[in-house]
Amino acid sequence: MEIAKDKLSALGDMLSYPRKVVIVSHTNPDGDAIGSSVAWRDVLTATGHSVTCILPNRYPYYLDFMPGIKDIIIYKHDAEGRAAAAVKEADLIFCLDFHTLTRLDALSDLIASNTTAERVLIDHHLDPTTDFDLMLSYPQSSSTSYLVARIIEEMFGAGSITRRMAEDLFVGMMTDTGNFAFSFITPDLFRVLSLLCATGIDVPAIHNNVYNSFTEGRARLFGYVINRKMKIFHGGQVAHMSLTEQEMRRFWFQQGDSEGFVNYPLTIRKMKMSAIFIEHHDFIRVSLRSRGNIDVNLFASRYFHGGGHKNAAGGKSFVPMEETLRHFEESVSAFAREGLL
Ligand code: 5GP
Ligand code: MN
Repeated sequence: MEIAKDKLSALGDMLSYPRKVVIVSHTNPDGDAIGSSVAWRDVLTATGHSVTCILPNRYPYYLDFMPGIKDIIIYKHDAEGRAAAAVKEADLIFCLDFHTLTRLDALSDLIASNTTAERVLIDHHLDPTTDFDLMLSYPQSSSTSYLVARIIEEMFGAGSITRRMAEDLFVGMMTDTGNFAFSFITPDLFRVLSLLCATGIDVPAIHNNVYNSFTEGRARLFGYVINRKMKIFHGGQVAHMSLTEQEMRRFWFQQGDSEGFVNYPLTIRKMKMSAIFIEHHDFIRVSLRSRGNIDVNLFASRYFHGGGHKNAAGGKSFVPMEETLRHFEESVSAFAREGLL
């Protein structure tokens, strides 16, 4: 994957004198959203810019250990209005790991209506919108963290990657690739990983922090969902699961506890597509995963107001659970009739 020289030089021009920078990432932030944002913040701070990181809502508890995470402003809990003040002052806003301002939910108005700041996209999702003044959009990048590592390397040199940045970037690269198992696993990814390792990061400790730090409730909820809530249909090729708020309460649900559940049905032979529906206060969050050529980015945008990547996408549903599941099954049939499944 080549990063266009003209984009890097435009970015270089923007950063050629001290700027007031805001970095934002998507709602329900994951390891990649946070890893890329805080590493980018660290390098910009080190090169003389004043930087504020903002997220629309809280990150899952098991990412608490990430070294750069503490100073992020959570917009939803920002009673003092520090986020609004930073956005108002900013002359440069970086949008990391999302492709449309609507992914910022409550924060999107603030970022969209700030007319003076330039907006720069650094992202790896398909079909970015035109809300940005400069776009570094690379859907062939396995994570935004990998993309940020490459940009840092090109602009500031590999030597500028500190151990702390390496740890944050590693989390993003590991989680978005399902532990280096999904698409776009390239020789260059391992070259960059070796640069990160050379800073002295403790890979087994990072792995342990991310994947072995869940609550008992999550383990029991997982058993319940797979045993009781997984429906397999379409000749064994599609699975769906769902969780209502009431069910989640029974298992002491905390944000992030259902992360990764949607991948599990794809461990079943011949399974092509998997979905999980999680009930929230005023909508149902949809997560989709697929294998090979099945395009869940297209599926999510057509049937669930969403998008993402070819094999991992998400969206929302605004009708009750029963109806949502029926809509999903009907959409699967329609998709299959077109030869897309
Ligand atoms: P997850 O299922 O892990 O929440 O999300 C999978 C992928 O789909 C992520 O890349 C995420 O950015 C994208 N995605 C999740 N929810 C939405 C959504 O509501 N709208 C759009 N456009 N993309 C989403
Ligand atoms: Mn990502």
